[in-house]
Amino acid sequence: MSVEDPHSFSDFTQGLIQHINFEIEVNFVSHTLGILANYHLDRPVTGSFFLDTRDLQIKRISQDGKNVEWELDMEDDILGQRLHLHELDQVSEFSIQLKTSPGASALQWLQPTQTAGGLHPFLYSQCQMLHARSIFPCQDSPSVRFTYNATIKAPEALKAVMAAESMGDMREGGSTVSSFHMPQPIPSYLFALAIGELVFQEVGPRTGIYAEPSIIDAAVWEFEENEEKLIQAEKLLGPYLWDRYDLLIMPPAFPPGGMENPRLTFLHPSIIVGDRSATYVVTHELAHAWTGNLVTNATWEDFWLNEGWTTYAELRITELLEGKDVEQLIWHLKRTAMHDAMANFGYESRFTCLSYSQEGVDPDIVFSSIPYAKGAAFLVCLEEAAGRDVFDAFIKHYIETYQFTSITTDEFIAFLLENLPEAAERVDIEEWVHHPGFPESAPQLSSKLYDEVESAISAFTKGILPEKKTVKNWRALQVIQFCLDLQNQEVTIADCKYFEDLFGIDDSASAGLRRAFYLFAIPAGYEDIRPGIERYVEQVGRSFFLMSLYRCMVKVDWTREFARSLFEENRHRHHPITVKSNDAILTEAGL
Ligand SMILES: [Zn+2]
Repeated sequence: MSVEDPHSFSDFTQGLIQHINFEIEVNFVSHTLGILANYHLDRPVTGSFFLDTRDLQIKRISQDGKNVEWELDMEDDILGQRLHLHELDQVSEFSIQLKTSPGASALQWLQPTQTAGGLHPFLYSQCQMLHARSIFPCQDSPSVRFTYNATIKAPEALKAVMAAESMGDMREGGSTVSSFHMPQPIPSYLFALAIGELVFQEVGPRTGIYAEPSIIDAAVWEFEENEEKLIQAEKLLGPYLWDRYDLLIMPPAFPPGGMENPRLTFLHPSIIVGDRSATYVVTHELAHAWTGNLVTNATWEDFWLNEGWTTYAELRITELLEGKDVEQLIWHLKRTAMHDAMANFGYESRFTCLSYSQEGVDPDIVFSSIPYAKGAAFLVCLEEAAGRDVFDAFIKHYIETYQFTSITTDEFIAFLLENLPEAAERVDIEEWVHHPGFPESAPQLSSKLYDEVESAISAFTKGILPEKKTVKNWRALQVIQFCLDLQNQEVTIADCKYFEDLFGIDDSASAGLRRAFYLFAIPAGYEDIRPGIERYVEQVGRSFFLMSLYRCMVKVDWTREFARSLFEENRHRHHPITVKSNDAILTEAGL
């Protein structure tokens, strides 16, 4: 079946990319990649062939040494430029020679001062959503999968890694040429590379960590449990089909908390808190190895299939590892984020639906936690209707049936109706998938850990502040949830000072906690935190954290005044995707 993808210029009936051989040369001076890409298609193509590109300098397209006629003949703000190969005659293989632009939306070129070590530059990619096309021409739709081989030529002192199998490094003059092989077919958004001063350490037979030398020890301690996570995940989801599960600890400018690049999750350094309190992000990225990477959403309109399923799987694995109470506490955090997002869009907005048309919509701009938490809650409803044993068998059957393919929401619903007809009957699928807002029939949460937070909030409303001895035994996530819940309370400047001291905000290594504190301290008018906010924006590049901070800042007079200048001062530190989404918030607020 051919998919319609509103985010691609490609015509999938023309033929599909099946394999690409890349030769990549990295230039840290011009901030460009020189690439020779050799494409293999799944069938011979005659006539036109369309590919997605953005800001690429295409030098030559050839087939068997002969030039192929081409032009960039369509242009769109969201989609980029359409590359049109002309007058092909039974062509199933061709080569493109190109150079990326210094502003390529998938790439961030970091100065040495932006790394932990401070001595070497760093380059990395983030291709989700529509950014692979800024590295190489492709059918940039999650519905198209290909395998690849690649070589990366980079300065000798640096180490290149990819979300692929490493085939070894070779010295060549002052450079190192690293070879990679990706035997499992991936959609373009899972293409990933990084180059920097990196070392590797194993944490288990299938798990290891790449990081800058100064943070490897902290990372190894934080993620020591990854092998055990992998074993527990396999119990729920079936065998792990990607061979290795390694982490790459990114520089702070990395936009997401984690990116599930296959075999090699890219992880934001803020996940290293020193108490393992944010490692649920790794559980999430690991779960993507099945839900997302094996069974992939066919288009970004079906994003909830990736994220709702992965959030559901993440929470099930957390339950296995840490028990129901912790799992339900994390649920509270996710629902809080979801309700924030729904309030931002408006509960009646179509962007609060699990599935809606994204024609003319930039998926980076409408990115939110709704497909995660609402999608997972829908699956919990189905689990409750089916019974856990039946649903667990359904999960394995679903993954086995669709592994290494991409599916639409409609295909999923058809599969659900066929395989879980009675449960599907008891759940209002139409409401969950196509209606805005959060259904009232959503499963209730129950966590003693959350109850403690709730009673502290309730005491606060009566003027009683939590004491040190009470919060001393709280988990880090309880403190964060407490701070998030304070957003809905009348908080005075004196309260802010008290909580700042009580929770040790100034010295906290937790970017999540500091964010949660600012989200109530800003509206409270606590102007002393301005230097803290400035440091935060400088140090933490996580797009979602910054977006929530800027959304808060633009609503409050004293921060609204400097929000734009703060953003501009830090623009150069952030990844193009982070710049785009935060710029949009400020612009929409009239700043
Ligand atoms: Zn995810």
